[in-house]
Amino acid sequence: MHKRSNRIDLHVHSTASDGKLSPSEVVCLALRRGLRLLALTDHDTLAGVAEAQRAAHGANLEVVAGVEINAENKGGTLHILGYYVDIENALLQERLRAMREARVRRARQTVERLREMGMRLEMEEVEHLAGGDSIGRPHLARALLGRGYVATLQEAFRILGRDGPAHVPRPRLSPVEAVRAILGAGGLPVLAHPAHSGAAALSRIAELVDYGLRGLEVYYPRHSPADVKMLRALCRKHRLLATGGTDFHGPGADEGAPLGSVYVPWACADRLRASVMISAGRASALRG
Ligand code: AMP
Ligand code: ZN
Ligand code: FE
Ligand code: FE
Repeated sequence: MHKRSNRIDLHVHSTASDGKLSPSEVVCLALRRGLRLLALTDHDTLAGVAEAQRAAHGANLEVVAGVEINAENKGGTLHILGYYVDIENALLQERLRAMREARVRRARQTVERLREMGMRLEMEEVEHLAGGDSIGRPHLARALLGRGYVATLQEAFRILGRDGPAHVPRPRLSPVEAVRAILGAGGLPVLAHPAHSGAAALSRIAELVDYGLRGLEVYYPRHSPADVKMLRALCRKHRLLATGGTDFHGPGADEGAPLGSVYVPWACADRLRASVMISAGRASALRG
């Protein structure tokens, strides 16, 4: 069923955000694992896409330009993936840049807060750990771990997480803004891990479909067989694409699963490609 020859993974992070492997390293690993399609979906940045596509040049591996936007949703977050976005689109770039700037401000404020709590970190070391384009709490968590203030990343997230003592909120897009930004860049907006973002996420699907949501991430490491069944039914009901991926963050990372390890039917890739071609056709007909 899960043939080595046609594996796909549509949810992958790199050092451009909080993954541990560079975009080229991700591609090397994907080739070793026999993947045929890979979407790089870093948080709030497209900076890794060109490198990944260069690394895959000439190989039998398609690298889809993607992004993951963690949007605000009533007391939680709702993650929107974008596939086949135009990485040069000015409006999407502008939106993502604003999010990344807010991330830097949030990291600085968090460093201050931690210092008041007796945990001394330098912003420079957190930036060095982040290395790439988009700084996040995982980098702060790794810095806390590196300094021995916590024993595990989970312990760090009890401090940095939503109800933690050093939690600093950051401005986020609304889910509708995220969907619009992705559509505006010619991409397909897909709701990430819907069964793993709280009931509030599921209850917004119908509304987001009205705004142009095109798919649900059905196949995901932490989705149970019952979740998959429920999400497939929602896809049929709303005429949505079913997608899937591992949320790979690197070997041994706390989050996600090993690259290519989640079964995603090959038909997902074909349907995704067909949808983006239909969208592009509509857009050029409208322009024409
Ligand atoms: P941020 O992008 O700064 O808002 O941080 C959110 C990211 O932190 C998520 O996308 C995950 O990659 C990671 N994350 C959130 N909660 C945890 C947790 N409890 N343990 C490990 N990683 C987490
Ligand atoms: Zn992440
Ligand atoms: Fe996510
Ligand atoms: Fe993710």
